[in-house]
Amino acid sequence: MPELPEVETVRRGLAATVSGCRMAAVRVRDVRLRQPVDPEALQRLVGARVTAVGRRAKYLLLEMDTGAVLIIHLGMSGTLRVTHPEIELDRHDHVRWLFAGPGLAGDRELRYRDPRRFGLVLVSTRTQLQTHPLFCRLGPEPFDTEFSGQYLWERSRKLRRPVKNLLMDARMVAGIGNIYASEALWRAGIHPARSARRIGLDRWDRLRRACVEVLGDAIRQGGTTLNDFRDAAGDPGYFAVHLAVYGRSGRACPRAGCDGRIRRIVQAGRSTFYCPRCQH
Ligand SMILES: [Zn+2]
Repeated sequence: MPELPEVETVRRGLAATVSGCRMAAVRVRDVRLRQPVDPEALQRLVGARVTAVGRRAKYLLLEMDTGAVLIIHLGMSGTLRVTHPEIELDRHDHVRWLFAGPGLAGDRELRYRDPRRFGLVLVSTRTQLQTHPLFCRLGPEPFDTEFSGQYLWERSRKLRRPVKNLLMDARMVAGIGNIYASEALWRAGIHPARSARRIGLDRWDRLRRACVEVLGDAIRQGGTTLNDFRDAAGDPGYFAVHLAVYGRSGRACPRAGCDGRIRRIVQAGRSTFYCPRCQH
């Protein structure tokens, strides 16, 4: 499943490829996604120019000069690739957009492919975005200044929930998925099952920093994917980043001076990996 760093990498690739370009055509081949694709709404975007490619949580936002916004979510298995219109289609390609414009050597086609169909392709407007049901309850982005140790501390005073579940709650902070929640807690030395209200301000500060670091490192490691994406020869896939604990059950804890072994537990139905020696 693509997590925030993959989505941010795709955003950067898209921004470099289609910003400033005009949407020349759209074809919907398969409307079946988490919500059905609306071909007529997509058709109304034709002729508009992409002014910016943004991201909110794991949603990509292609902002058009008409005030419309194309919202794309990759779900479990969605990918976007930029290719040439004559390249043969895949049977899981749901939507294709033809872009024309500055910086493109000939026309380019953007294709959304999603074999498991949990993704989304929707149309909204910049003004509706504030009150849109997908976005109105989202907490701050991990890279926002609003997301501070103080913010986490204040919001968690009465919460008995395990800290890991809180980190993965999009109302608290948007876009920290299962992998990076485990990684950030390890980096901050906090036990994933610790009750949120029993974490002091200093440790929330450390955890906030750890979240920004693990996501930032992963985005930097996604650099090669970005090049593949821009060259647009094929499917970029999702990149494998260096992980300290996730998926490493039974292995030695990588923290210097720690002789613990990584353990796996299940929290809220999801695997959590942590070191019982150095996470308290
Ligand atoms: Zn350890």
